[in-house]
Amino acid sequence: MRDLLGGKGAGLSEMTNAGLPVPPGFTITTDACNTYNQQNFTFPDGLWEQVQDALRFIETESGKNFGDPSNPLLVSVRSGAKFSMPGMMDTILNLGLNQETVQGLSQSTGNPQFALDSYRRFIQMFSKVVLGLDANEFEEILAAKKQSTGAIQDADLTATALEEICRDFKELVLKRTGKAFEEDPQKQLSESIKAVFDSWNNQRAFDYRNYNNIPHDLGTAVNIVSMVFGNMGDDCGTGVAFTRNPATGENVLYGEFLTNAQGEDVVAGIRTPESISALEQSLPEIYHQFLEVGRRLETNYRDAQDLEFTIERGKLYMLQTRSAKRTAQAAVKIAVDMVAEGLITKHEALQRVEPQQVEQLLLPRFDEIAKENAEQQGHLLTRGLNASPGAASGQVVFSADKAQALKDEISNIILVRPETSPDDVHGMLVAKGILTALGGATSHAAVVARGLGLPCVVGADSLEVNEAEGYFSVNGVTIKENEEISIDGTTGQIFRGLINTIDPNIEEEHELQTLLSWADETKHLGVWTNADTPLDAERGLSLGAEGIGLCRTEHMFFAEDRLPIMRRMILAAADATQLEEAHELLRQQIDTNTTRESTEDATAKLKDLEAQVQASDAVADYHASLNQLLEFQTQDFQGILKVMAGKPVIIRLLDPPLHEFLPNYEGLLEQVIELRIKQNDPETLAESEKLLDAVNSMREINPMLGLRGCRLGLMYSAVNAMQVTAIFNAACDLVSQGIDAMPEVMIPLVGHVNELKLVREDLEAIATKIQSERGTQVNYKFGTMIEVPRAALTADEIAQYADFFSFGTNDLTQTTFGYSRDDAEGKFLLKYVERGILPKNPFQTLDTGGVGKLMQGAVELGLHAQPSLEIGICGEHGGDPDSVAFCHELGLNYVSCSPFRVPIARLAAAQAAIEGTLERDR
Ligand code: ADP
Ligand code: MG
Ligand code: MG
Repeated sequence: MRDLLGGKGAGLSEMTNAGLPVPPGFTITTDACNTYNQQNFTFPDGLWEQVQDALRFIETESGKNFGDPSNPLLVSVRSGAKFSMPGMMDTILNLGLNQETVQGLSQSTGNPQFALDSYRRFIQMFSKVVLGLDANEFEEILAAKKQSTGAIQDADLTATALEEICRDFKELVLKRTGKAFEEDPQKQLSESIKAVFDSWNNQRAFDYRNYNNIPHDLGTAVNIVSMVFGNMGDDCGTGVAFTRNPATGENVLYGEFLTNAQGEDVVAGIRTPESISALEQSLPEIYHQFLEVGRRLETNYRDAQDLEFTIERGKLYMLQTRSAKRTAQAAVKIAVDMVAEGLITKHEALQRVEPQQVEQLLLPRFDEIAKENAEQQGHLLTRGLNASPGAASGQVVFSADKAQALKDEISNIILVRPETSPDDVHGMLVAKGILTALGGATSHAAVVARGLGLPCVVGADSLEVNEAEGYFSVNGVTIKENEEISIDGTTGQIFRGLINTIDPNIEEEHELQTLLSWADETKHLGVWTNADTPLDAERGLSLGAEGIGLCRTEHMFFAEDRLPIMRRMILAAADATQLEEAHELLRQQIDTNTTRESTEDATAKLKDLEAQVQASDAVADYHASLNQLLEFQTQDFQGILKVMAGKPVIIRLLDPPLHEFLPNYEGLLEQVIELRIKQNDPETLAESEKLLDAVNSMREINPMLGLRGCRLGLMYSAVNAMQVTAIFNAACDLVSQGIDAMPEVMIPLVGHVNELKLVREDLEAIATKIQSERGTQVNYKFGTMIEVPRAALTADEIAQYADFFSFGTNDLTQTTFGYSRDDAEGKFLLKYVERGILPKNPFQTLDTGGVGKLMQGAVELGLHAQPSLEIGICGEHGGDPDSVAFCHELGLNYVSCSPFRVPIARLAAAQAAIEGTLERDR
């Protein structure tokens, strides 16, 4: 139904069928809209006749007639696409009013004030939506009249005042369009239907669809609904309610109500509405009827609903139902509660929460102490309504356009508005938080912010925004544009200045824990974590990681106490290795009798080389520093393997180019030149020059493709040997203490099987030796990363020397596209995505068509050659929900991602498994 009738139309129809009180109406389908757009903006054949027939039906149902001066039928014209697109087009209410029918309405209801209020609303809405006139000019006329007559609320305006407003409105229309305001109800209707159809293609709608990945060819339906009136007096009103609290998920009716008001008064935040519970006092019967309706709709849709209703003279009418937009916290609580209530299954609950929402739940919030301090220092400016949770600190910007323009300059924007409308969405998209002076929990700002997961505070007490002069004032304090503020969307507090934020504690998120335990029961993929330190490993474990998919040893060398040792080792490595290798080669030649010279000559030469090795500073430095590093590394690995006892820990051998550990060349050069000019410190100069030479000799034109990965180990094998010695010393220590250490040694950047073969044979020999010396058996593996295309293409050969594969999709993406990531992202990649040349940034979401194809081939080849091969992914993609789904389809054993993303990956993996089952059943 939703495809044809749109969400709103389907909801109205379903409520009508369920016997709920819905005013009579009809829906023009999305098909009609698409045909209208295809045939050059003309109605499809027969549409207008069908509209007339349907109108007759409403007339019979309501006992009123469209255009009848004595008893006029009024209707609303409402857009409604398949997916809710808030504010794509404004609704037109009270259509059918003109100079004559307004008299009829006035007489038939005996309430001229109401009739004229309805008329002025209609002229205002029609002028804005259909005629495209500036809404502000109408608001100005209205405001001026209120002031001159002393009216505070719209409802205070007298019939005479309203009549004058209608007259002024029409004069304005004539002035702006050159045509009198449309009197013919039929023409009003056909123009409004066209306007709704046209609104499908307006810029606002187009941008919204792009942002939300909604296809552009769905079209919108048009709902024509006979009017019910909340503005006929004090036994009337209009409201919006959620069957459960959309911020916390608590199972209580939550909403707002305005007495004697119509349609969008509540949402627009013009008057501050009362809480829905006030209705329980004023109209208890209606309140309970409404509760019952809410319950029925929840049971029917098996989801929390967002309801619009109007009360006309003590009678309840339902005007809309849709599944409620909610915060991450509410999504999780509602899903888990509904399983307990028997409304939905665990699998459905898992599908109700988006992985991004789990991310939001784990987002930082204000440090309580920092917040308290801010309060004590008098920085709490005011409080508003806590419309969307989370904490945000940043610089104040007052307009959406400005926010857009400044998005690259200011990293944290807090958009501050009197209230927001759909025209502000592009600014909200680039903001870190939203603050509005007006509006309630269902205002535009609140609803959109919740959808975007942005912290939002609305209806801030006593806050006045002066956009023109670029400041807002609150309780005597003035905050200028660009000044820093902090808003807490969870509590509604607004502070001056920045406040520290902290990470939430997953242990305390009980509902999330429950949901994730269901995810673990459901998913097939393992979820491992990338962790370089015992602390990371602990974090990953507490977030549910089942192993470590990537432990990068180089990070350990950057610590302050190690970097100097590392540098000493690197600076000595080349000379030492050269000397030692020459010595070793000659020794072997003598042993095997393959020297060119005579034996005496060769032996003499060997002696000489031996002496050189003995005397060499480089050799001494090299081994001394490696020995020091060995001690550090043994401790490192012991720490991590111990935390992860009984779980696999993949340790990658040294991977980056060595120059990353050395001072930067340009900086060093500058220093040398300075020392040369000053000529006052020859000692430092000599040292710096030596270092400069060494750094220079290691410079590469393209380090990403240079001496790194397993190539390093092949050039300087002592480094690999040191690392593997550390790993197996650590593991043997632990195993002899009864701790199940499970190291897996990963050899990076292999492109040819011989690289892996050589390195593995060398290193496994060391591992075997240590184990036999210690009389201890370690449960270990040797494996490789698949991160260059050649490795993927020859995975069957490589698998003969690998117990496991781990897709390094960062490098694999770089080498498959031929992009260097830093250059690409800085220079053109984002433009590529903007222009649609690439659908997404392939470093964020796996490029399934290219990189994914290589992975698929590697999985097939690898498993064919080695059926017990363990295969996973350790690139950043391991925590991206779409990429996780792809890894599930490939049948990988696990995904590995940063600790923070582990819960996201768990949910995504469960959803992929459920989706897979559904797919098979289809
Ligand atoms: P939106 O999609 O922006 O929510 P709606 O079409 O639901 O727009 O209408 C906007 C407002 O007008 C809502 O508050 C709705 O309840 C009210 N409204 C719409 N149709 C009618 C009607 N026939 N009678 C009374 N109020 C109506
Ligand atoms: Mg609505
Ligand atoms: Mg890599």
